[in-house]
Amino acid sequence: MEKARIELQGISKSYYSETAVTQALRKVNLSFYRGEFVAITGESGSGKSTLLNMMGGMDTFDEGEMFVDGEPTFQYDEEEWEEYRRTKIGYIFQDYSLIGHYSALDNVMSALLALGYEEEYAKKAAAQYLEQVGLAGFETHRASELSSGQKQRLSIARALAKNTDIIVADEPTGNLDSETGEQIVKLLSELSRERLVIMVTHNYEQAEPYVTRKIRIHDGQVVSDVQVNESGEESSSTQKGGAEKPETGKVQKEDAGWQHKLAFYLANRNRRTQKGRTVLFTTFLFVIAAVSFLLIGELFMNRDDYATRSYSHSTFYKEDNTRLVAKREDGKEFTKEDIEEMASLSNVEVVDPCDYANDINFYMEEDEDYKYLYGNTERRLVQFLKEDRFMMSVETLSEEDLAQGRMPEEQNEIVLYAGDSYKLDDTINTYFVAHNIWSNGAYYQTELKVVGLLREETDQVYFSGALCRMLAMNIDAGVYRIYYMYEARMDDYSMKPAMIPVVNPSLSGNDVRVSAAMGDTAPPAGPVEFHWQPYDDEGNEYGNGLTTMVNVLAEGHSSTADFMEVSQEFFDKYYHRLRPQASVYISSYAKTDSVIRALNRRGFEAISTYRLSANDYLEEKVTERLIIIGIVVFGLIALLVAELLILRSLMKIRMKDYFVLKFIGVKMPIIRKISYYEIGSYCLAAVVLTVCLMWILRIAGIPIVQDIMWYYNWVTYMVFVLYNLLLSVLTVAFFNRLLKGRLNA
Ligand code: ADP
Ligand code: MG
Repeated sequence: MEKARIELQGISKSYYSETAVTQALRKVNLSFYRGEFVAITGESGSGKSTLLNMMGGMDTFDEGEMFVDGEPTFQYDEEEWEEYRRTKIGYIFQDYSLIGHYSALDNVMSALLALGYEEEYAKKAAAQYLEQVGLAGFETHRASELSSGQKQRLSIARALAKNTDIIVADEPTGNLDSETGEQIVKLLSELSRERLVIMVTHNYEQAEPYVTRKIRIHDGQVVSDVQVNESGEESSSTQKGGAEKPETGKVQKEDAGWQHKLAFYLANRNRRTQKGRTVLFTTFLFVIAAVSFLLIGELFMNRDDYATRSYSHSTFYKEDNTRLVAKREDGKEFTKEDIEEMASLSNVEVVDPCDYANDINFYMEEDEDYKYLYGNTERRLVQFLKEDRFMMSVETLSEEDLAQGRMPEEQNEIVLYAGDSYKLDDTINTYFVAHNIWSNGAYYQTELKVVGLLREETDQVYFSGALCRMLAMNIDAGVYRIYYMYEARMDDYSMKPAMIPVVNPSLSGNDVRVSAAMGDTAPPAGPVEFHWQPYDDEGNEYGNGLTTMVNVLAEGHSSTADFMEVSQEFFDKYYHRLRPQASVYISSYAKTDSVIRALNRRGFEAISTYRLSANDYLEEKVTERLIIIGIVVFGLIALLVAELLILRSLMKIRMKDYFVLKFIGVKMPIIRKISYYEIGSYCLAAVVLTVCLMWILRIAGIPIVQDIMWYYNWVTYMVFVLYNLLLSVLTVAFFNRLLKGRLNA
């Protein structure tokens, strides 16, 4: 006699639950042969499905042994069972177990791909199997949209595609009307001619004309086993129904590459066939990505603790965290090329070569910037109202910035944005105060003429380089004391005021004007001998100074006593001009380090005026920063938990598909990879969408996004991408653990 395909010896199986032990099979002995079409009958709960599942490699048994082609299976491990399900068994389920969102063709193809066939062959062969079960023309229909009979045919086509010698079917006609049911039975009977087909049925009458053997089970035991029609001697073998197998396709090597390819293919199928879910998953991951983008940006923003310190105005009066001060490494004066080179660096907005003037306040609008307390035009007391407007030189501008007029050529010419207040050729009374340069309360007053109007609205007024440098001069050149009124008795000068020389363009030669406020200490009008004595930073005289005769004009000027007006000629003769420092304004404080590095690479030294001046910690700001960091970290952890829980439960929607894939023989490592590929691709899409969205919001001018985006450099982007990928990987790993538990249960 021919060797049995499957032989069961004394098989027993029990199910244990908390309340009861059910013995589903009791010492079953059965042998099955090729060419048989076996019907297994018995009332509900008698153990038919248990028996079939066991033979299908989907369930285990407690006792006895099952031989497959004479080989015992007791030593099979999970991998060998996987291989058994994949290559030996075609399974047909009462509930069809199709992947509903796949097309008919894809359902069959996935079984072929699982066997390692190449995609091209699998596609051709799948179409042929569909034709064989009468589903030609339904290739692209979704499985869920087919009728019950068509679904069962499809599940048969899928079992056929595996080209196994054994087909097991658990009540394949249970959900079908009798006519369709009979067609299915007939189809199975045709297949049985060269295979072994074992079918559990409730409706034996329907199957009777076709089956070759009938086994009745009762209470887990075989109570009858009879041959029905003669098997084997097929008179009608001419009309071989299960014939016409497609030519054999090439089977690929089942290495890791193949596994990835298959998982990738199936993940792709999932994405394409369930667009709704693809959108749902991507949207969910997109929300997570967008929130994490902001949180990570916020974290990087709060990495630097300078924001939590108090600003000291002693060195750089102007508090501006986007200002750097640069010098050449060799300490020499900047050239025009140097300034242009610095201005061309990325994230550098503007470079002002008149650095010191950037700390000098100006006051232009009466009753807005300053007001008169009392006095006449000669001697007035002026009060300054705010300290938020600082000088900038026109050297930061170019002709293109002007809407009208021209760039300043003379010292007392300015350009500004006209608005409603100014027009070309206006003269504006202006005061200057340099808190940490000049002595306390000192101000310089002059009339300035508007020669150009700016295109873009701004509060900033741009002053000539000459004026900027002149006002900053006593820093550049040290403090000068002017000695006059020599006293023979003392053998010394009695007057030694520290006066800052400023140019009055209307003066010439050695004419000078002193402040009308000087009163008694003023030098007498007429020719006076002046001795100019420079002082260093520590207040000590240095050098010999020089002595000249000057002509003091009777009329005083309206700046404070710290200033003495001289002619340009005189100024140029005694004061040298240095340009050793420049202010470099950057696009955001976030770029401080990168711009400083870029400057260093080009031979410049730079410091952040803000960092230099931010000293003591402000307690409430420190607390605030720590709270923000805490909230951000908490937020990132919350996102992780949300993703783990929410996405995992969304993924459970797929659980049934994975059961199907497992039963058609897709191996666990491949099933696990499917989710990695699928979620991974949604995650990447979400990350890309987020970056696009953030750029759009930044360009649209959303302040919080703009602030945060300054902190996005390649490191921040990396952290953002890795965080999101990690989240997805953890979620899939978490889901796969659940999946493994369910699939092996
Ligand atoms: P049939 O297919 O003939 O209706 P089954 O093989 O499904 O019967 O079930 C046989 C017996 O085993 C029944 O009493 C059933 O309740 C029990 N049984 C089946 N599967 C399980 C299970 N997973 N856990 C516990 N009991 C089970
Ligand atoms: Mg059953």
